[in-house]
Amino acid sequence: MTNPSCTKCNSEETVVMNKWQYFFFLSTLPIIVSLIFSYIFHPILLTFILFVFVVNMRIAKKKTPYVICRNCKQVQQGSGNKTLRS
Ligand SMILES: [Zn+2]
Repeated sequence: MTNPSCTKCNSEETVVMNKWQYFFFLSTLPIIVSLIFSYIFHPILLTFILFVFVVNMRIAKKKTPYVICRNCKQVQQGSGNKTLRS
């Protein structure tokens, strides 16, 4: 499988971020914060993690595949042939 080429500079030095990678990228920080807060304050705050999961999953579905060009740093979203479900 080859990487999609950049639409700006036609370089194939691109990084593709898939749904799960983007999801983890979005979720790591809020989950760590929720864990710390629930430890300090109240375990009820752990339910916030569920909320983070649901919201970030929706964002990740919409925004991926996410293509980043290593050459010119351009960020492209999606392949253009996806239909948005919301
Ligand atoms: Zn480029």
